[in-house]
Amino acid sequence: MIIYMLCEDQDVIEAMIEEAKKYTSQGKVADYIPALQYANQNSLAFAVYSDASTCTTAGNIEEQFTLQSISKVITLALALMDIGEEEVFSRVGMEPTGDPFNSIIKLETHSPSKPLNPMINAGALAVTSMIQGSTNDEKMNRLLDLVRKLTGNASISYNKEVAQSEYDTAFLNRSLCYFMKEHGVIEDNVESLLELYTKQCAIEVNCKDLARIGYVIANQGKVVNSEEQIIPLQIARILKTFMVTCGMYNASGEFAIRVGIPAKSGVSGGIMASIPNGMGIGIYGPALDEKGNSIAGMKLLEGLSKRYDLSIF
Ligand code: GLU
Repeated sequence: MIIYMLCEDQDVIEAMIEEAKKYTSQGKVADYIPALQYANQNSLAFAVYSDASTCTTAGNIEEQFTLQSISKVITLALALMDIGEEEVFSRVGMEPTGDPFNSIIKLETHSPSKPLNPMINAGALAVTSMIQGSTNDEKMNRLLDLVRKLTGNASISYNKEVAQSEYDTAFLNRSLCYFMKEHGVIEDNVESLLELYTKQCAIEVNCKDLARIGYVIANQGKVVNSEEQIIPLQIARILKTFMVTCGMYNASGEFAIRVGIPAKSGVSGGIMASIPNGMGIGIYGPALDEKGNSIAGMKLLEGLSKRYDLSIF
């Protein structure tokens, strides 16, 4: 199949990365979470995972970064495994918003006032509040265990400095929480929920880890030749669907047309993509466009999709 050439065309891919890298100067590293501002604007790293190995890599693939919004896909998986579809979707919807990820507007104007989907901050905070466990430590450890299984990397942890930096400045997320608490969407102590959410967003990976997570989701929740169903098939399907409809912020529609691969990005510059039944892609490029997506990462995915006919549509 043509997509498997992604694992063979090392020279072509290196050239495409060099081309995409030129766009990093047009983007901007996120600084609303102060600890993120120190990322290297010019970085661009890329890894593909397929058939139980990392097959193609380029750039500084050992560079670590935090998952940020990409963690929303994983907490959704955990909440769905914990309490089931019916309960989760009674408190968070399934529709794209077209608004920025941290917008509060639809919480007020949309009835009922539950968040529209789990990929915006309000929805993700509601999902984090559904993770089962008697303490935040227990909930965080359960989440880390799942990320370790998905990555196949037992050393995955979270970056304390980034978590603290976001916690200290998360005024907008606090207001989303209080709004939802007023309307009965969440019952948690807001500070405790924010502590867990900011740690979740600060889980640290590299591109290879991200590609492996993307691959497991693409491969219906399993690693090839392994018996373990890490995520149930139906949940893997739900994750991919949200990645298509809401994964790239309010650029998800354009991304579906230009690239056409289920993907999720985060403000640290990561993009995780899942090519159904085939491969996972991990990208790290911290210079962001105006909607919060890695500017060079988007260019790279667009080029790859065209060259290797990756669109699912
Ligand atoms: N931790 C970030 C926030 O809540 C995640 C945002 C993102 O990556 O889109 O603002």
